Amino acid sequence: MLDTTVLRHAADRAARHYEDLDHLPVAARASYPELLGRLDRPLPDRGVDPVRVIDELIDDTLDGFVGAGGPRFFGWVIGGSTPGAIAADWLMSAWDQNAAIYQCSPAAAVAEEVAGAWLKDVLGLPSDASFGLVTGCQMAHFTALAAARHSLYRDRGVDVERDGLFGAPRVRVITGDHRHESLIRAIRYLGFGAGSVQQVRLDDDGRMNMVALEEALAADPGAPTIVCLMAGDLNTGAADPFHAACDLAHARGAWVHVDGAFGLWMNASPARRSMLDGVERADSWATDGHKWLQLPYDNGFAFVRNAAMHHAALAMTAGYFIPPDGSGRDQVNWNPEWSRRARGVVAYAALRCLGREGVARLVDEACRLTERLVEGLGRLPGCEVMAPARMNQGLVRFVAPDGAHDAFTDRVTDAIREEGTAWFGASTWRGLRVMRISVCNHRTTDADVDRTLDAVERVLARVS
Ligand SMILES: *Cc1c(COP(=O)(O)O)cnc(C)c1O
Repeated sequence: MLDTTVLRHAADRAARHYEDLDHLPVAARASYPELLGRLDRPLPDRGVDPVRVIDELIDDTLDGFVGAGGPRFFGWVIGGSTPGAIAADWLMSAWDQNAAIYQCSPAAAVAEEVAGAWLKDVLGLPSDASFGLVTGCQMAHFTALAAARHSLYRDRGVDVERDGLFGAPRVRVITGDHRHESLIRAIRYLGFGAGSVQQVRLDDDGRMNMVALEEALAADPGAPTIVCLMAGDLNTGAADPFHAACDLAHARGAWVHVDGAFGLWMNASPARRSMLDGVERADSWATDGHKWLQLPYDNGFAFVRNAAMHHAALAMTAGYFIPPDGSGRDQVNWNPEWSRRARGVVAYAALRCLGREGVARLVDEACRLTERLVEGLGRLPGCEVMAPARMNQGLVRFVAPDGAHDAFTDRVTDAIREEGTAWFGASTWRGLRVMRISVCNHRTTDADVDRTLDAVERVLARVS
């Protein structure tokens, strides 16, 4: 008799933990030796009862987790998960559908097709753009830039899928100083090499300088070129001037790609859409589902304006494929993986749970609470706002009586984390140490901002 006790048991324990996240300390408390001491058992010869394994797993790990899914985690833009999205994710594991090709799971393929269309709608992207549902924004960069690679080389008579990069002219990638390292790694995967990246300077407001972009483009007008723009700088939330950048880049035949890991979601909010004016003119876009959409991990989205370039870069076939019955979509042709989770079902369910208004509210609330948090911190004695709230980002630092602000900022940031009410990350911005504020969780409320400000005030009084 098949025993499914552990499934119900785990669902119950997971739901209880999800509820407890409001009260648990945000920082992990267990040290590396403690965690290793608990987990590094000898691999058993004989299997252990699953209920016991799950219970012990919870006991062994829980204080070694960071409460990033809870309401007072303001570190990197990580995002929580909504109950509906988690439930769909669980179902997908239990249903064990392989979303590689249509015939492996027709329902998963159709749900993904619908989710892709909904995502373009919510994100304000062209309705005929193609899409790939991938693991995260890193792989969304890879997917979108594989299409760029195909397109740029095709224009030059190179069949890069057949011949690779041997003998091909070097692609150059123009980015701003604010690009995310995941973009560089995608560029490495594609064989361009990190050395192909040319950085252009930013203006004081953190947006790419258009004179510098024009100079860079003019310096080597014939080179196959990708211009990577930011919709949401990870320090300041700045978005590049998309209209001007697209005018310049397209006039030179360059491909324009947008890193909108979190910032592209501004388009989901009627009140904030204007921050991304012109972003829809790009050739490809990468964003995350596990950040602002509040999906569990393993959810990133790539979109490409010219679907044929996307398909040509990734499509493949094998003798054992069964063609879709007429019109179904084989996911393998649009993403770099083969066997994969039916992640489209999770996006589908989450978008239905939220609706257009729910997504807009998520975005607007996080932005509003970021403003409250950054302004509130700025009013505390010794706290200086370095970058005011923009989107869901802001930067502050702590001013030391002895002038050693960098070390003091790190010390205060560490002490806030140790105190346990809230969690902030540290960063270096314009050569100065800062504390980063990112709000990206549907559970964060005004009360969480108040509790956090009280905690920071207490810590400051103790540390200074
Ligand atoms: C998080 C992030 C990425 C990387 O996304 P992953 O989902 O972690 O792969 C890329 N760019 C920006 C701006 C990000 O914030």
